[in-house]
Amino acid sequence: MPFRIVLTAPATELSLYNNNPLMAFSAAFSRPPLLGHRLLRRLLYQPVPRKGVRVAFATYGLRKLEAKLIEAGFDPSELAIVHPDDLEEAVSSETRILGVSSNDPLGAGFVSTTYAAMCGFGEPMTAYEFRYLMQRVADLRRRYHFTVVVGGAGSWQLLRYPNPYRKHIDCIVLGEGEGVIADLFSSILRGERPPPIIEAPPAPVEEIPAIQNPALWGGVQITRGCGRGCQFCSPTQQLRRDFPLERILQEVEVNIRGGSSMILVITDDVFLYHCYPGFSPNRDALLKLFSRIASVPGVRHIQICHSSLPPVLLDRKLVAELCELLIPYSPARLGGHPILLTEIGIETGSTRLIRKYMLGKPKPFPPEKWPDVVEEALRIMNDHDWCPVATILIGLPGETEEDAIATLELIDRISDLRVSLIPVLFVPEANCALRDATQMQLAALSDEQLEVFAACWRQNIRLWGPQFLCGGGLFRSVFRFALPYIIHMLYYIKHRRLYGSRIKRTLREIADAVRAVRCVASVRT
Ligand code: SF4
Repeated sequence: MPFRIVLTAPATELSLYNNNPLMAFSAAFSRPPLLGHRLLRRLLYQPVPRKGVRVAFATYGLRKLEAKLIEAGFDPSELAIVHPDDLEEAVSSETRILGVSSNDPLGAGFVSTTYAAMCGFGEPMTAYEFRYLMQRVADLRRRYHFTVVVGGAGSWQLLRYPNPYRKHIDCIVLGEGEGVIADLFSSILRGERPPPIIEAPPAPVEEIPAIQNPALWGGVQITRGCGRGCQFCSPTQQLRRDFPLERILQEVEVNIRGGSSMILVITDDVFLYHCYPGFSPNRDALLKLFSRIASVPGVRHIQICHSSLPPVLLDRKLVAELCELLIPYSPARLGGHPILLTEIGIETGSTRLIRKYMLGKPKPFPPEKWPDVVEEALRIMNDHDWCPVATILIGLPGETEEDAIATLELIDRISDLRVSLIPVLFVPEANCALRDATQMQLAALSDEQLEVFAACWRQNIRLWGPQFLCGGGLFRSVFRFALPYIIHMLYYIKHRRLYGSRIKRTLREIADAVRAVRCVASVRT
């Protein structure tokens, strides 16, 4: 079947990760030595199922673009979203446009910058798979002469850093594609040359159609944008939009009909959904939303992408009521009990940095109250089985020893809680307010910043170690025993040369935390 328009994304983005959306972050780690495409696809990012050559589940972003093109009159039979391994089959002399979407094409995002450096084995798997994809695109383009358009949340990286794929890309789209893709693709089909860069503004809700085919993990967007205005965050967050309930339910049904039993609620903060002024959550709207989603026949699991902390204090009852509603639908377990996982941004314990770079984050509370807001909100969430995964930003411009110590103090205050902490290095994304700031490197971290890193991972290992490192199975037993030695080996093989001897203490603390888990496990068994 010849397709005039073929859309694709790297293999790291077209996988269900064993039905665990949080595992998708693991692709930001360095590619383990000696593991090639085949093994990585078997072990980590198993390709999504296919229907013919088309993928059965695509990234939510690609599904939105597909829906926009169909809405604009493009023939769905001439359009296909395919896995990179199937490009040869999908592309032919009929193909006029190949669209590539990527969240992290050069491995330069917050998580990949941090964890590729921490692993020490070079490029993250996200960048490795984008290269594999672009090599295929380049080969096919030489044969068929189609136009290559690249977009997605990470397209800024291709303009900010040396771009080895420049000569294979005709047009890079920055921002939200829905507002521009139909005109752009129509003009290419008329034979016009696209501009090398298009900066797409945030699309109004009326211009964003419902997806027509299933997205990964049953993705359904309820809000887009945030409006709190953190200076390290992408500008697409500036304009907050809510999607109408009927359109959300339409997408739920599309996913369920397409074979998903999970609904991944995509939002930058669930509490923004039809919120009142001052970021005050709208309890009625949220309870109605989730009851309606849960009542769609076939929905077995519901997972919320992101939340924020201040609204928890503004309506304590809401967290309890959402827990009651959502716990029966939770796919996540901790210590054998169902929990509600959601991502949040703590970022720092320094009220100085909050005031300087994230004035909107604690709103309606003042920046000085941030550590109290974090602790109190997390305690309430934990009381109702919400166990968030929080990012901690290390190396914001001008972060001082005192700022890092304030973060350590905050981590200490919440160390008895069920919260995972993901430390990431500051990266100045191309279009954020801090775009001209210096990127933080692992080797440049101060002792206090390294201690923040270690403290976060001690907390994670304490929280999740018994679940992931203990229990039956030969692989887990061997891995639990070997992990501290692997960490030490990494230091001598890679980290000492790359980052100097100061990082030894950080790695030792992480290895010791793993050993502590092993001791608990052996007492239990
Ligand atoms: S609160 Fe989160 S999504 Fe909103 S601007 Fe800040 S970092 Fe971005």
